[in-house]
Amino acid sequence: MRVLVAVKRVVDYNVKVRVKSDRSGVDLANVKMSMNPFDEIAVEAAVRLKEAGAATEVVAVSCGVAPCQETLRTALAIGADRAILVQTDAELQPLAVAKLLKAIADKEQPGLVILGKQAIDDDANQTGQMLAALADWPQATFASKIEVADGRAKVTREVDGGLETLSLGLPAVVTADLRLNEPRYVTLPNIMKAKKKPLETTTPDALGVDVAPRLETLAVAEPPGRKGGIKVPDVATLVDKLRNEAKLI
Ligand code: AMP
Repeated sequence: MRVLVAVKRVVDYNVKVRVKSDRSGVDLANVKMSMNPFDEIAVEAAVRLKEAGAATEVVAVSCGVAPCQETLRTALAIGADRAILVQTDAELQPLAVAKLLKAIADKEQPGLVILGKQAIDDDANQTGQMLAALADWPQATFASKIEVADGRAKVTREVDGGLETLSLGLPAVVTADLRLNEPRYVTLPNIMKAKKKPLETTTPDALGVDVAPRLETLAVAEPPGRKGGIKVPDVATLVDKLRNEAKLI
C-alpha cells in the first residue's frame, strides 16, 4: 500500500508573525519557514506504517513555491521514499490544494492519504475534508491512532470529552492530531540520504487544476494589545477590584 502525505511550508511556529502595514496579509520577508507541525506528525505516522509493514511506499506532496522543496527534503529525511512538488507562485486556498492532491491521488493510487489536521498559518482545517469529498473516500479527522490491517484502517479520533474509533475502507483520508505521535529527530545522515531521494516537480496546469482563489481576504489584523497587569497589596483589595471594577464576582 502506498501512503501519500501532504506537507505544507508555513511560517515557523516559533516566529512572531507581523501583519503587513496595508493589512493584506502576513509579512513573509526574511521569516523562517518550516514544515507545518501537524504535517510532521502525518509524515511520522506514514513512515511508522511502512516500518510496521502496513505500507510499502511513502510519497510526500507539497503545493506552492519552489522553496517547498526544502519542506519535502525534511519529509524525505524523516523517512518518506520520494516527493512531489506541485510548483506555483499562486496563492493556494484549501479547495485548490484539495483539487491538486486529488489529481496526484488519481495518478499515484494511494491506499491512504494522511494530512495534518490544520495548517498553522491559515488555520483552515479544510483540506483533508475537501479531498475526501472530491475523491468520495471515507475520512477520519483528528486522528490520535492509526492502524491498518486486512484492507481497512482503524482510526481513533479525539472528540469532545473522549475518543471515537472508526473503521474505514481503503482508500481513505486521515488527518493527524497532535497526540498521534512524536515525530523523530531528523539526523544528519538521514538529511544527507534525503538529498539523493527522488523529488519530482509538476504544476497545476500539468495536472489540469484551476487554482484561482475562490475567497478574497478583506483584511488581516493583529489581536488587540494586552493591557498591563497590576499588583494588589492584599486579598481585600483584590476582592474589591474583582467585585467593583471587573464586576466578575
Ligand atoms: P488547512 O486545511 O489549510 O488547515 O490544511 C490542512 C492540511 O492540508 C495541512 O496540515 C497539510 O497536510 C495539507 N495542506 C494544506 N495546504 C497544503 C499545501 N499547500 N501543500 C501541501 N499540503 C497542504
